Amino acid sequence: MISVDEALRHILDRVHPLEAVSCGLLDALGRTLAEDIFATEPIAPFDNSAMDGYALIASDTLGATPEHPVRLSVLEDLPAGKVARHSVAPGSAIRIMTGAPVPGGADAVIMVEDTASGEDWVDIHAAVGAEANIRRAGEDVKPGERVLSQGMAVGPAEIGMMAGMGLTEAPVIRKPRVAVFSTGDEVVAPGEPLPPGKIRNSNLYALSAQVMQSGADIYASRHIPDDLDALEQAMTGASGADVIITAGGVSVGDYDLVKEVLARLGEMHFWRVAMKPGKPLVFGEIAGRFFFGLPGNPVSAMVTFEEFVRPALRKMAGCASWTLPEVEAVLEHDLKHSTGRLEFARARTRLENGQYVTASTGPQGSHQLRSMLGANSFILAPADRGLLPAGSRVRVQLLAGEI
Ligand code: AMP
Ligand code: MG
Repeated sequence: MISVDEALRHILDRVHPLEAVSCGLLDALGRTLAEDIFATEPIAPFDNSAMDGYALIASDTLGATPEHPVRLSVLEDLPAGKVARHSVAPGSAIRIMTGAPVPGGADAVIMVEDTASGEDWVDIHAAVGAEANIRRAGEDVKPGERVLSQGMAVGPAEIGMMAGMGLTEAPVIRKPRVAVFSTGDEVVAPGEPLPPGKIRNSNLYALSAQVMQSGADIYASRHIPDDLDALEQAMTGASGADVIITAGGVSVGDYDLVKEVLARLGEMHFWRVAMKPGKPLVFGEIAGRFFFGLPGNPVSAMVTFEEFVRPALRKMAGCASWTLPEVEAVLEHDLKHSTGRLEFARARTRLENGQYVTASTGPQGSHQLRSMLGANSFILAPADRGLLPAGSRVRVQLLAGEI
């Protein structure tokens, strides 16, 4: 049996970012930039007005007040998207809208609130300095600048910026493709009759959803009976996947066939991790694909996914950080814990007066999927500690970085 840290190291040492691909801007959401992106155009593309008002010569407004306004003649109206026909000369102004190009001759814009106007004139009620309310070309981005960097996570701002720079496609790291297989002769799909001795398949759904939430693509998602040939066929059939996940069949029972299939088709890097839930976990490789044999108990499957599969998928997707963020929190109640294995207790953690407070979500059996409902965190109960009393400071992992 190896420790959780050792197991994770084994996995992360072997897994590497996938290759770069090009995708539509919106498809890039949540992915990682594979290249630096340099600007070819200035943003803004031209000097423009930051206000609705009047483009004028700042020195014309010297000493202007509401009582002693300066009157200028208005040469034309300039909406955004149009270019002025006139240049501003001393004693004149052009009515300008936000985003319209600053006309030649003008060195400032006065906002409309500081003016009063008639048909072809405007009274200026305040003095403005040169440059007032003018946004210069390239103020946000200059041509040749590196605006986005390789490794950046693509969010809405990055997508908006790429669009603003004129790109239609984004260079990103390819999404990992994942095949998910649940196993077990006792397992039936939701919607089907439930004969005596059978249980419903929750793992296939929870794990497939975790794959999707990790930003990876589902290559296959289906159930396989406890049959060596069927398992072998499923593994070899998933040749287009980067990662294969199975749930169940990794313990020491007569029908636990997953390790046998792995031995036939590939190699096993480790089996069994000192954790609770989730001890019988297999990691290996089949013909260049990474293989995770997760335990069958629904909570064990979900917890081992979070601890091992998700970091692997994130590293493959080029993310800068892989593991769940950890904080220290105050335990609200006694937490019973048997020593020997690091325990991941499902918990609800919140921020209260500047400190994290955490409480278990209820009964913690590895078969009790309800403990995952509403859980936003795992309390890490150390292997060498027994009961953790209320008020203890404990390490807590935040799921999906959320609180
Ligand atoms: P196994 O590791 O295959 O022995 O499974 C451990 C436990 O998890 C058993 O009680 C199984 O019935 C249960 N189990 C296995 N697969 C699933 C599944 N897909 N959905 C829900 N429970 C499962
Ligand atoms: Mg089984």
